[in-house]
Amino acid sequence: MTALDGNAIAGMLQTAFGQDMTAAPGTCAGCGAASRLGQARVYRGAGTVLRCPNCEGVLMVIIENGGVMGIDAQGLTDLHVPW
Ligand SMILES: [Zn+2]
Repeated sequence: MTALDGNAIAGMLQTAFGQDMTAAPGTCAGCGAASRLGQARVYRGAGTVLRCPNCEGVLMVIIENGGVMGIDAQGLTDLHVPW
């Protein structure tokens, strides 16, 4: 599967969070690396998986189903949402 980067799902992130999230910094729970969501490696399958650009650990999984978007962000110890 070819990896995209977080900028490829800017529209999806904007829908989920109501604003541009590509520059939002987050910290990987696996390796502690800080990166912006736009730098995450993105894999699209049944859901959209964002992986850490440093350790490839899963940062966030986004599932879209019937007009509802589910977000699992357990791979992030923190995420700074600009406002
Ligand atoms: Zn990591």
